[in-house]
Amino acid sequence: MSDHEGPMPHTDVPNTVADPPAGYPAEWEEDAVLRDGRSIRVRPIVPSDAPALQDFVASLSTESAYKRFFSVKRALTPSELEAFTVLDYRHRMAFVCIHDGDIIAVGRYRELEDAPAIAEVAFTVGDGYQGNGIGTLLLFRLTAYARTASISGFRAHLFADNHAMMRVFRNAGFQLAREIESGVYTVDFPTTASAAVAEAEGEAERRATAASVMPFFYPQSVAVIGASRDASSIGGRLMNNLINGDYHGPVFPVNPRTAYVRSIPTHASVLDIPVPIDLAFVVVPARFVVDVVRDCAAKGVKAVCIISAGFSETGNTEDEDELLRIVRSAGMRMVGPNCMGLLNTDPAVSLDGQFGPIVPAHGNVAMSSQSGALGLAILDYANQLGIGISTFVSIGNKADVSANDLLLFWEDDPNTDVILLYVESFGNPRRFARIARRIGKSKPIIAVKSGRTAAGARAASSHTGSLASLDVAVDALFDQAGVIRVGTLEDLFDVTALLANQKPPEGNRVGILTNAGGPAILAVDALESNGLEVPTFSEDVQAQFREFLSADAAVSNPVDMIAAAGPDEYRRALSEMLSCKEVDSVIALYIPASSEGSQEVASAIRTAFEESDHSKTFLTVYMNSAGAPEEFTGRGERFPVFAFPERAARALAKAVAYTEWLGSPEGEVVAFPDIDREAARARVEIALAGSTDDDGIWLEPADVDAVLGAYGLAVPRSAIVTSADEAAAFARDLGTSVVLKVVSPTAVHKSDVGGIALDVKGDDAVRSAYASVFGAVDDAQGVLVQEFVSDGHEVLIGMVEDPNFGPLIVFGLGGVFVELIGDVAFRIHPLTDVAAQTMVREVKAAKLLDGYRGAPPGDVDAVVESLLRLSAMVEDLPEIFELDLNPVKVGLPGDGVRIVDARIRVRNVVGSWIPARTDMPSKL
Ligand code: ADP
Ligand code: MG
Repeated sequence: MSDHEGPMPHTDVPNTVADPPAGYPAEWEEDAVLRDGRSIRVRPIVPSDAPALQDFVASLSTESAYKRFFSVKRALTPSELEAFTVLDYRHRMAFVCIHDGDIIAVGRYRELEDAPAIAEVAFTVGDGYQGNGIGTLLLFRLTAYARTASISGFRAHLFADNHAMMRVFRNAGFQLAREIESGVYTVDFPTTASAAVAEAEGEAERRATAASVMPFFYPQSVAVIGASRDASSIGGRLMNNLINGDYHGPVFPVNPRTAYVRSIPTHASVLDIPVPIDLAFVVVPARFVVDVVRDCAAKGVKAVCIISAGFSETGNTEDEDELLRIVRSAGMRMVGPNCMGLLNTDPAVSLDGQFGPIVPAHGNVAMSSQSGALGLAILDYANQLGIGISTFVSIGNKADVSANDLLLFWEDDPNTDVILLYVESFGNPRRFARIARRIGKSKPIIAVKSGRTAAGARAASSHTGSLASLDVAVDALFDQAGVIRVGTLEDLFDVTALLANQKPPEGNRVGILTNAGGPAILAVDALESNGLEVPTFSEDVQAQFREFLSADAAVSNPVDMIAAAGPDEYRRALSEMLSCKEVDSVIALYIPASSEGSQEVASAIRTAFEESDHSKTFLTVYMNSAGAPEEFTGRGERFPVFAFPERAARALAKAVAYTEWLGSPEGEVVAFPDIDREAARARVEIALAGSTDDDGIWLEPADVDAVLGAYGLAVPRSAIVTSADEAAAFARDLGTSVVLKVVSPTAVHKSDVGGIALDVKGDDAVRSAYASVFGAVDDAQGVLVQEFVSDGHEVLIGMVEDPNFGPLIVFGLGGVFVELIGDVAFRIHPLTDVAAQTMVREVKAAKLLDGYRGAPPGDVDAVVESLLRLSAMVEDLPEIFELDLNPVKVGLPGDGVRIVDARIRVRNVVGSWIPARTDMPSKL
């Protein structure tokens, strides 16, 4: 496969770039895994790539060169070389793929002179690398970049028989328009991110990644480098676990200092092993690891799990980088370093490749843990709670394999129904969100994120900035991706025990069956305070219960059968409730009054559940210090057993929230045809001209108004004046009551310093307000005279860019007390229509906008639209990194909103580079 950037009519025209950027934002350089497991690095082309590009062209076969250049090309002319490597990264852009220091593929686009916003696109993939999905990767990369660079369409020319490239275009999910002329196709397609494109991107990524990590879970052969006879050492324990776990394949201990480990002859080096090795565990001291991994690369090992510590966690990033370099260029994958190992309980392989003492039961829960010790503890508890494990990976420093990679494996893993993540830090949160959101649709993902890390604790130069210094980014990320976030390990197990054994409830109505009043009341309280409902049963249903329960029993819900209830009552009442249409979940509470008869009741509960139609989510609470009875946890269908009603209620509430997420549409990112993006961009570029300040600059009020106006965001009429006369004259012109605000580079919050006069009418009043407002600070530059917006609720709309999570958008009750009240909702950009609606509904102040207690209602639709327009602005103008619209005055329904105070902070993006605002797949 290869192809052609067209006959490239402008190849001799040098690119117009004065200063080629020295570097580019790190996010545009990423490693990708090919279908065959090899890793490549994808990055923008830079001028110093010229010699490598020349070598690459020279290496092309006649056919590849012909398809690319429409002639047999052996070398590029100096001007061609320059045109291909010195780009402006907006109108002309190229990505290269590097393997082992060589360029092995190039994808480029070039905006057409006669058709602005349309670019010709071309790909060339080296002969030894075709059929690996590289063309697809480059295509996704280029389209993602083109979108941010205002290129709306791509055009490609290819020979009619270039089926491979045509297939790349078609399978990528783009809407293609084709034309053929004298054997050459012209293919046109929009660069827009559509659902079809996203799906194709995701599918390509999943397939390649899942295949590349497969050798960790289903190796044909395993080596343990550093295997030891000392059963207490890590190398000894790991070896013992592999053997005692009955791994279905050969294990080769590697140790130059001993001839046998566990009666198996050792080899001095992995290179001496006479058969191919799929997976190698490395348990040698840190200083030997790099050499050992080099040997693994030479041996052709597919996967290495590095248990040894002493790398980036101790500051030794150098060796860790070297390890990564070795595995990437050899096409290996690496788990660790500094990890506890991994295991796969699938009986087909029985791989216990961790060094802890626990042998977890086989089950349907997969887990990735960033902490090794905690991973151990979790396996231990899982056993106790009857949670079975499918696969477990301690990812350690996650230098290569990350939770994201594992998610892509588990997505299609038939042995896994529920995914647990213990997360300490995110490598690429945006990628995580995209992957998790898709997988969460079919398998619940439960995550405990430790450390309430600040999303970006920064000087509070805006309301939004200071509000975002909580844990909001992670919460927003998990919320939007449907990840079930738990705050404690206890909750982690409780929710897992529920979802691993029962389907998520269909709704929030809960029926409770009990033999004791007190715990049932506690359960009701806990359920209701978690947002669940315990509805009173209808007369009909109550009558059914009365038929067989004693007259003392309560039957309205909870159904309290009182202490005398025996197995028969439990079985009949539970059967009744499990088939009742008035609830979605059923909790059976049982407190054994004495050990007498408790087994029979437990069996009755089990039988009633097993005989039911399983339309309900079923939980039990068994309150007894001796723990759950054999009847509950033994063989047969599984259901969770909780020791306390509150824990059951919390777990159920999490499961219901997951159901609600499953049922809620994702919505769409809305495009507004009336937006004048170029006008806004021009304003920002002029304002930024010459600025090199990393902290950026706050736009002048006139620029703020122009940018907001270009995005259809309404601001009241205003002018900046420098004398009382001017102020009075402008106020007369407006003919309304006015507001005067000091303009000063230092007064962040003008009302704090007395720099505001509201609702001012009449010449004299305006003049005296001018004097007092202007005099409020020492560095006043003038006074903003603005139309007074008399009525309306005040809300805040803002954006702040988190270094890892990207732009966060905030909505809340506005005004000067916003930090104090903290009634805000965060979402990660980009907002969909549904996200904008739900974030407005989520804050407590939403009730005010509905017209709470006689207060006038607000124009909620206009608020939602403003949020979406803001999101469009954030997407188009990467220079904006902090923004505060506070307050936005919300008029009556139909009257719209008006932004009476706005601050926008911008900074130059690196060189002419455009930061990626939305994530794109990095794996094929
Ligand atoms: P700052 O946030 O710097 O203190 P603002 O411009 O937000 O200054 O003004 C402070 C408060 O004054 C606002 O929260 C709002 O209640 C009120 N206010 C400001 N401008 C107007 C206006 N044009 N119409 C009505 N009220 C206004
Ligand atoms: Mg304000």
